[in-house]
Amino acid sequence: ATPTALMVGTARSAKMGVLIKNGEVLQEVSDLNTVVFDKTGTITVGKPEVTDIVGDEKQVLTIAASLEESSEHPLATAIVKKADSEKLQIKKVSDFEAIEGKGVKANYHDQTAFVGSTRLLADVNISQEMNQQATKLQEEAKTVVYVGLNGEIIGLIAIQDVPKPSSKEAISELKKRGLKTVMLTGDNEKVAQAIANEVGIDQVIAGVLPNEKAEHIQELQQHGDKVAFVGDGINDAPALSTADVGIAMGSGTDIAIDSGGIVLVQNDLRGVVRALDISRKTFNRIK
Ligand code: ADP
Ligand code: MG
Repeated sequence: ATPTALMVGTARSAKMGVLIKNGEVLQEVSDLNTVVFDKTGTITVGKPEVTDIVGDEKQVLTIAASLEESSEHPLATAIVKKADSEKLQIKKVSDFEAIEGKGVKANYHDQTAFVGSTRLLADVNISQEMNQQATKLQEEAKTVVYVGLNGEIIGLIAIQDVPKPSSKEAISELKKRGLKTVMLTGDNEKVAQAIANEVGIDQVIAGVLPNEKAEHIQELQQHGDKVAFVGDGINDAPALSTADVGIAMGSGTDIAIDSGGIVLVQNDLRGVVRALDISRKTFNRIK
């Protein structure tokens, strides 16, 4: 493409809130055959809310919120918000520890407490009843976190984060254009699959630790795919730079935005479709 054609292409997409760093990125977009999406804040709104609590509600929520007060994770925000709305008193904890992609741990009234995924539960038993409740909630597309105290699970908290209204249309448009769509998330397989079904995603890679996201992108590339990764979080930065095209949400963290070759100012996945259309037009016109 001529320099003028590239300028026209990037300017046209910028007008639609799709900021493309340079002509090289615009060209890479025309070669894509796979788009990989982060879940929270990318496909979903990213404002999760507590929907169900299993166990002694007051105790479970008080302990969970007391730990999550020190975490910045979206799930933590949801739990603290729920405790506030129930006017529960948040307690001081000590020895707080955040475990990336797994949860949080702290000392609560001289007992070890934790909130997080099953990955935190190494040697803690879960009753069959709790297990069944967790499965049911996950099948409803709700993320379940386990609340533990003193080596025992005392309850579950279910948290729901709904897809953005625009996600389904964007994914359907990408599929119409022949692209494969993949969800890459740290969340549980059942929850990920339920949300993927809602928006029409082809393939789900779940239970991925934050530092493994980039490796999964590489794996797809080794199969010959030209891959875009769309994400918003601090954890997404390595995947954004590993992908052939990194696409960051405008609402994302600064590090995600810096790692992306494209920024979607409106946080709307239809921006990926726009970038694709403009790129294909720019390069077909010249070829
Ligand atoms: P995502 O890929 O959706 O951004 P993360 O990698 O941040 O998810 O987290 C993966 C899983 O780890 C969550 O679904 C949750 O089960 C658990 N987790 C992580 N951080 C926390 C936290 N602060 N409180 C509770 N659970 C957490
Ligand atoms: Mg995220």
